[in-house]
Amino acid sequence: MQVWKEYQEQHKGRFLEELLALLRIPSISAKSEHKDDMLRCAEAMKQRLLEAGADKAEIYPTDGHPLVYAEKIIDPAKPTVLVYGHYDVQPPDPLDLWKSGPFEPDIRDGKIYARGSCDDKGQVYMHVKALETLVKTGTLENNIKFCIEGEEEVGSPNLGKFVAAHKELLKADCILISDSAMISMENPSIDIGVRGLSYIEVEVTGPNRDLHSGVYGGAVANPITILAKMIASCHDENNHITIPGFYEDVVEATPEERKLMAAAPYDEQEYKDDLGVKELWGEKGFSTNERTGIRPTLELNGIWGGYQGEGAKTVLPAKATAKISARLVPNQSSEKITAMLLEHFRKIAPPGVTVNAFEHHGGEPYMTPIDSKAYQAAAKAMETTFGKKPIPVRGGGSIPICALFEKELGIKIVFMGFGLDSDNLHSPNEKFNLENFYKGIETIPYFHHYFTAMN
Ligand SMILES: [Zn+2]
Repeated sequence: MQVWKEYQEQHKGRFLEELLALLRIPSISAKSEHKDDMLRCAEAMKQRLLEAGADKAEIYPTDGHPLVYAEKIIDPAKPTVLVYGHYDVQPPDPLDLWKSGPFEPDIRDGKIYARGSCDDKGQVYMHVKALETLVKTGTLENNIKFCIEGEEEVGSPNLGKFVAAHKELLKADCILISDSAMISMENPSIDIGVRGLSYIEVEVTGPNRDLHSGVYGGAVANPITILAKMIASCHDENNHITIPGFYEDVVEATPEERKLMAAAPYDEQEYKDDLGVKELWGEKGFSTNERTGIRPTLELNGIWGGYQGEGAKTVLPAKATAKISARLVPNQSSEKITAMLLEHFRKIAPPGVTVNAFEHHGGEPYMTPIDSKAYQAAAKAMETTFGKKPIPVRGGGSIPICALFEKELGIKIVFMGFGLDSDNLHSPNEKFNLENFYKGIETIPYFHHYFTAMN
């Protein structure tokens, strides 16, 4: 759309100045001395949304930091897109590693250096300027809502309560989030999923005290040996997980998705060199990308027991412990898998030991299917502005708020991240490339346009 391009070209200097002003506010949610800065930032965000053309913008207090809600409703019968983001940032420490002040944004080599430049003020602001572009050029065809929270960096402790209490207010046809990265400007990509998590601890107890390994060894079950055997038995020779029922609910990725994933740039030698390993290891029949994205895994996160001091001590320990976690994929349930893991470790223990297994924490997996309208609209928007079909990427980590949104609002999330992995999120010298900032503002109006056309 020529009119969008012209408008954005004409106002790009101001767009940037406004973002820099937001970046100067140290909205650090983790530190109570920044409580006033948080309010100031929420207030600024509200004002910018109103100036951009929102009909209404409000600050909602929570038990923690406030949340900013805004909307532009042109016709309730038209599709509605809910934009989620956050205005809080991570603490900037260690300060001495920053080349310029974390809250004194500095532009060097076409990059904005400041805490929050990419995560997430810069990316939220692309949406505010996309709204402005659509409103001021008279081309808005759908309704847009904004939910910008102030506690993402501290685990969103009050978001669930807010969403549950404001289902009607947040009602939409999809949720659009720009709080992630893409592979590169040459290889645009869209995150289509995150994995869930089940985390347990298993404690194996044998004799009632540490024993002399010469006097009792060979006659009494050694808890470390037993625990090691139990854990080793959880994978077969193809590195499939052997726990009965573990894969039962897994939705297999379609051949189409696997083909698209395979298009992501990947250099195995570089990957191995970076990690300092001679060979990779994983489930047979899947690529590295698939093993860390579309497949569930079971990993040992810690194991201890017996003598760990200097020199040798011939002991048969009374106890051994391990921390074990599983990453889950759709439609595995964290609750169900956690129960399954606990039950499994209790069951496979031989009679010579007792097992105490308990849960730590968990989170549900999340996915936006590539045949959903939201994904299709995002892919088409990126293809329009990047001149290239984006690659769907499944993240290996876990973001519990995604499942929360879907559960409460019953709608799909689509991630359009315009950052790069090299943007130093949560680290000193966080940056956001100017090119990416403007590309985001250019792309987002197309998302609204295509999403509306598809609905
Ligand atoms: Zn973020």
